[in-house]
Amino acid sequence: METISVKTGGRTDLRNVTEEVERALGRSGVQEGICTVFVAHTTAGVTINENADPAVSDDIAATLDRMVPWNGPYRHGEGNSAAHLKASLVGSSVTVPVHGGRLALGTWQGIFLCEFDGPRTRSVHVQAI
Ligand code: ZN
Repeated sequence: METISVKTGGRTDLRNVTEEVERALGRSGVQEGICTVFVAHTTAGVTINENADPAVSDDIAATLDRMVPWNGPYRHGEGNSAAHLKASLVGSSVTVPVHGGRLALGTWQGIFLCEFDGPRTRSVHVQAI
């Protein structure tokens, strides 16, 4: 397993980590199998979506922020329940088929770390088998 460190910007921030994951996969030597990308945090997630037009990830971030307002009512005392909720909506991992030593992503697909309580430095685990 490899761990990628990702610095995020604002409170909500979707970062394209596809190239870093591809490099970690390359170092693993796995040619055929699956690659799991997992974020080890409770207020961040991982998703796959369009990597061509950055407006798509902006729209995802803005829509999640509208769907889950920062100010509750929530019970969690830390004050970041909205970030926890969005992390659960997005999910903490994705699994991508590996073919010929490459991620078998579609032409327009990229892997995004989704920060919901930033800015922070996040650990993204990449494991290919
Ligand atoms: Zn919390």
